[in-house]
Amino acid sequence: MNPLFPALQKILIIGSGIGGLSTAIILAGLGLEVPVLEKNRRAGGLLCSYTRDGIECEVGVHYLGSLDRGQILRRFFDYLGVTDRIPVTRMGEDGIIDRYLFEPGTHQPAIFDLPPGMNRFEEQLRVTFPGEQKQIDEIIKPIRKAADQLHGLDFLDTDGNDFSLLDQCRSLGKILDDLQVSPRLRSVLAIASSWIGVPLGDCPAFYHNMALASYISSSWRLNCSGSTMADVLAERLRELGGKIITMAQVRRIHVQKKIVTGVQLNSGEELAGGTVIGAVHPKVVLDMLPRKGAVRPSYRQRISGIKDTHGIFSVHARIDADVHPEIPYNIFKIDTDRRGNVPDLRYYQIRKCERKGTNLLSILTSGRDELWAPWAETRTGRRGQKYVKAKMDLAGQLIREAEELLSPFKDLKILDAYTPLTLRDWVNTPGGSAYGVQRSASQMLATALLNRTSVKGLYLAGQSVMAPGIIGTIMGSFSTVQLLLGPEEFKVNIRL
Ligand SMILES: Cc1cc2nc3c(=O)[nH]c(=O)nc-3n(C[C@H](O)[C@H](O)[C@H](O)COP(=O)(O)OP(=O)(O)OC[C@H]3O[C@@H](n4cnc5c(N)ncnc54)[C@H](O)[C@@H]3O)c2cc1C
Repeated sequence: MNPLFPALQKILIIGSGIGGLSTAIILAGLGLEVPVLEKNRRAGGLLCSYTRDGIECEVGVHYLGSLDRGQILRRFFDYLGVTDRIPVTRMGEDGIIDRYLFEPGTHQPAIFDLPPGMNRFEEQLRVTFPGEQKQIDEIIKPIRKAADQLHGLDFLDTDGNDFSLLDQCRSLGKILDDLQVSPRLRSVLAIASSWIGVPLGDCPAFYHNMALASYISSSWRLNCSGSTMADVLAERLRELGGKIITMAQVRRIHVQKKIVTGVQLNSGEELAGGTVIGAVHPKVVLDMLPRKGAVRPSYRQRISGIKDTHGIFSVHARIDADVHPEIPYNIFKIDTDRRGNVPDLRYYQIRKCERKGTNLLSILTSGRDELWAPWAETRTGRRGQKYVKAKMDLAGQLIREAEELLSPFKDLKILDAYTPLTLRDWVNTPGGSAYGVQRSASQMLATALLNRTSVKGLYLAGQSVMAPGIIGTIMGSFSTVQLLLGPEEFKVNIRL
């Protein structure tokens, strides 16, 4: 028994994505016993890359924000003890983190380059939209504030309600309507809300501003694969005495008289534990609970009714490295409507890879669920040739579009394409949702305080509890540990 936390004996953590691993590292660092149960063969969830033709293809980490000293992710990595073990390269040395390309012939300008640093971002907005200085004053103020709050870790300050920011709970779309911004300025701002899977018109402004600020503050690419990052975190956990049990899919969470008592694995094995943290989607946790008596029907209804973020379709292809050198920034090709909203976009990255003479082209776009509906009842690897053809057709179309934008690709070979169904089966995300529950303004109440449940000893972590992305998910982990320990114990024991 841990003398500091006698009430917390074994803490079972379900899921070994960044949510489960970071929660486990924080708790293991306090000397607690934290077995992590993972359904897959290896730990890491969406962090894990996969290999095709000897090339590492990324899934859930294309770039990271806020790793400069004093910034939020750096503070998290320092606390978790992994900063020096995860090699990264700073983006934007040549002045650009992201290049936004808009449909020619719509509004102007057709290109917007997102620079690193808040001052440079503000300057870029002012130069690009000279007629909208007043609007930019109003837009930039809360983004700066969001950066301060983010790096100051204000989310851990339980009584830190800042009433001057209540306005920021409104959707950014509505705020921009009131400010009467031009359609193009609206589109430029809409990209950050699509990173987190919420349309601008329904995206709470503080949430948008936090996402945007996290990348403008500083952006980085991994200098290792996502799988190596997962291995580093898993290794760190083991060093602290934690353990990860792979091929251990949790089927049921046992609850008696509204108190959690343990879990049952698919294999039938029973594991007892007075505390369980589900670092998986809340609907997945709900499905594991007894149908009757464990939670109120209203809770069941609330969680089952939450709308999730969309899925993602992605293609990885290798191309000739001499003709197509690495591009040190991300490229977004953006569809817009008349008002400047962004119904869809394509994300492109060209990076060095393990094979000499070859670079890796990665494309991401929305999941287009309707295309995969005929295979919704099938599992990965058993979907047949028609599905493979449908995937390759869409992959080919996306490649042709990329060629129109960049240049015809020499020696291109498609390595792989995955659909929302792939992600659904791989990490158990309902409907293949990429970023978990949708944190929209219209779901503000339904998605509030998702890390707590009415079952004693049962908590949630992972990207759905606070925000998606590596930063948002680790924020959720600290917040869940704070809930578990109580604010006072948290303050005394966790010095971030
Ligand atoms: C295509 C894509 C690109 C992205 N790009 C970026 C990016 O560039 N930068 C960024 O910051 N973020 C990015 N993200 C978001 C980021 O990857 C996620 O927010 C984050 O990794 C989610 O972590 P998680 O731990 O909540 O979930 P997951 O990584 O999904 O982990 C959940 C784990 O639980 C396991 N599990 C599920 N059910 C069970 C069960 N019953 N029993 C046992 N185990 C179970 C799963 O196998 C999985 O390992 C991207 C996401 C996607 C989908």
